[in-house]
Amino acid sequence: MTTPTQALQLILGRVRPLPARLLPLEQVLGLAVAEDLHSPSTVPPFTNSAMDGYAVQAADLAEASEAHPVCLQVLGDLAAGGVPLCAVGPGQALRIMTGAPLPEGADSVVPVEDTTRGGNWVETTRPLRAGIHIRLAGEDLRKGQLLATAGQGLRPGDLGVLAAAGIATVSVHPRVRVAVLTTGDELVDVSEQPGPGRIRDANIHAVCAQVTACGAIPVPFPRVPDDRATLLGVLRQALEADVVLTTGGISVGDYDFMKAMLEELGAERIFWKVAQKPGGPLGFWLLDGKPIFGLPGNPVAAMLMVEEYVRPALRKLMGFSKLHRPEAEAALEDGWTGRTDQRTTFLRVVARREADGLKARLTGPQGSAILSSMLVANALAVVPEGVAQVEPGGVVLLHLTEEAEDH
Ligand code: AMP
Ligand code: MG
Repeated sequence: MTTPTQALQLILGRVRPLPARLLPLEQVLGLAVAEDLHSPSTVPPFTNSAMDGYAVQAADLAEASEAHPVCLQVLGDLAAGGVPLCAVGPGQALRIMTGAPLPEGADSVVPVEDTTRGGNWVETTRPLRAGIHIRLAGEDLRKGQLLATAGQGLRPGDLGVLAAAGIATVSVHPRVRVAVLTTGDELVDVSEQPGPGRIRDANIHAVCAQVTACGAIPVPFPRVPDDRATLLGVLRQALEADVVLTTGGISVGDYDFMKAMLEELGAERIFWKVAQKPGGPLGFWLLDGKPIFGLPGNPVAAMLMVEEYVRPALRKLMGFSKLHRPEAEAALEDGWTGRTDQRTTFLRVVARREADGLKARLTGPQGSAILSSMLVANALAVVPEGVAQVEPGGVVLLHLTEEAEDH
């Protein structure tokens, strides 16, 4: 059996980022930039007023006080978007609004709150230093400055900066389209009342949601019965997507046809079965370079496999340089006892920060069919192979599945 580390290496060794595309700014939120982005311009492009007030020469106000108010001649006014038509000389002021270009001659702005206005004059009792309440050209962004690094996901703040700098289109890796197939004669739609022996299809919703949460686009397929011919036909259609995920039918049951059908289609098996709990029967195939993941049917196992193996692969396909969740060590308060075997165990836990470090608690029974154990989990504790027991308070490695999205 393949170890979790080997499985991840085998997967990541075989997937490459999808070719980059030039997309308009309004379509790139959350996508990874394909190349470093540098500012093509200076921001702000001109020195401008940071306040609503009066553009002046600070030297005029150096001696201003309650006892000696300074009175200046007002030349006119200037709104944001306007251009100054005259220079400000000694003894003069120009009424100016926030964002309007500072007129020639002026070196600072007196906030309107510090002035008294009458006709074509303005008076102030506050002294002022040169360079106050103005924003210098280029103080925000220099021309050529690095704005984003290849492999970085774009966030709202990044889009604002790119817009200010004049970058209207960005070369990004597109979202991956992921076909999601669930298989099993026992499955019914969530809206149906399951008849005898039937259960609701949880995976189609959980797995599609995980794909969406990765920033990829799920393409859900109608449920596939445990029938070779039907499965073969649906797999052919699913292969039009960039990645195929299937759940169920991957084990050694009499109706588990997934492996055989994928191989009938000519897919190359990279591995099948990972030495881990929950969920050993994960398979990974390639067909003309297209990744196909055969996930277990068991919903906990399926979700865990998506989290640990599919998510990093989707992120790599989407060009992100950070593929993995943040990790941390935590004290497992309730401890854990398992069976001694050679498999890595992933425990669903709730982690919280305390003054003396990170603490984790099991979400409840850890059986691989206990889907409710996923409900409140915000991390997975990784108990390595060969370890059958963690003492209460023992240290475990966590994969933080809800930590602020790495970008
Ligand atoms: P399988 O791998 O097909 O043998 O499925 C393993 C277990 O997971 C069985 O108990 C199935 O009924 C269950 N299962 C398979 N697919 C789903 C699904 N889409 N939603 C919920 N349970 C499922
Ligand atoms: Mg099945």
